[in-house]
Amino acid sequence: MQTATNESLDFVGHAFRTAQELFRVPSLARSALHPLKRLRVRAGCLKGLDFLWLEITRRCNLRCAHCYAGSRPQLPLIEKMQFADWCRVMEEARSLGCRRLQFIGGEPTLHPDLGRLLHYAKRVGFRHCEVFTNATLLRDDLVETFKELGVLVRFSLYSSDPAIHDQITGQAGSFERTVEGIRRLVRRKIRLDASMILMDQNAAQAKQTKRFLRRLGVTSFGTDRVRGIGRGEQLVNGARAMGELCGYCWSGKLCVDASGDAYPCVFSRFVSVGNCLPGGIKDIVKGEKLSAFRREVFLDKGGQKNVRQV
Ligand code: SF4
Repeated sequence: MQTATNESLDFVGHAFRTAQELFRVPSLARSALHPLKRLRVRAGCLKGLDFLWLEITRRCNLRCAHCYAGSRPQLPLIEKMQFADWCRVMEEARSLGCRRLQFIGGEPTLHPDLGRLLHYAKRVGFRHCEVFTNATLLRDDLVETFKELGVLVRFSLYSSDPAIHDQITGQAGSFERTVEGIRRLVRRKIRLDASMILMDQNAAQAKQTKRFLRRLGVTSFGTDRVRGIGRGEQLVNGARAMGELCGYCWSGKLCVDASGDAYPCVFSRFVSVGNCLPGGIKDIVKGEKLSAFRREVFLDKGGQKNVRQV
């Protein structure tokens, strides 16, 4: 019953935020959000779990200029978290009412267990599974797993100009490989969502990149700014850690990385809220560290929302 209440409120909150973004609701109307937020706090959302990121590897075949995770090819493929540990985290998350998760990295398709982990996630009842990938290394078996399980694949394209994209990823030929990966996913009618991180090199290219993706068959597209986290720190002047967050990480989110360390979200990796080896995530989700962080973000006017539609 508690879960159903939280989900209903989540849905209403999400719909309200979407309306804000789409119609740029003026400040007076925005204040109507506050009672809803207060209601969510009373409903215990600051202690719940609604969305789980699993950063299954820190390694990536690319080396993007802005990467908040600081991923690169030289980092370990597998660290302390083994297959059984990831499965245990997913079981615990389900027991806490969580039904949405994303596999991310690093580059998650490098991990030999990604397919098995996706099947396990579905088996234990995650109704919404996502993979965030650079789409350069998609194996046939993974593409078929995405199709079979109805996985939402999210990816980044930094420009429709191959030279600019490759300059940002630090890897010649990455544009061609990503585009070929997108074409394969479109052919298999896999659900896709594209994002474009805007920085000096590509800031003027959002519209043409959106058109390019639309021609490929990708209709879901958003942009974001560089976060001053990880390698992104070098690209953002005068960044303050809390100011780099999107502002919604107070709302039932948790990220677990390849060492078992847990953070309130993928960006807030400077705030450790515990390690799930060997104790698991229940104590972390119910713990005061995570709760205090969520309260701080929540009370800071919900943080700043920087994602916008082009
Ligand atoms: S593809 Fe993603 S994980 Fe890999 S370096 Fe680029 S931003 Fe980081």
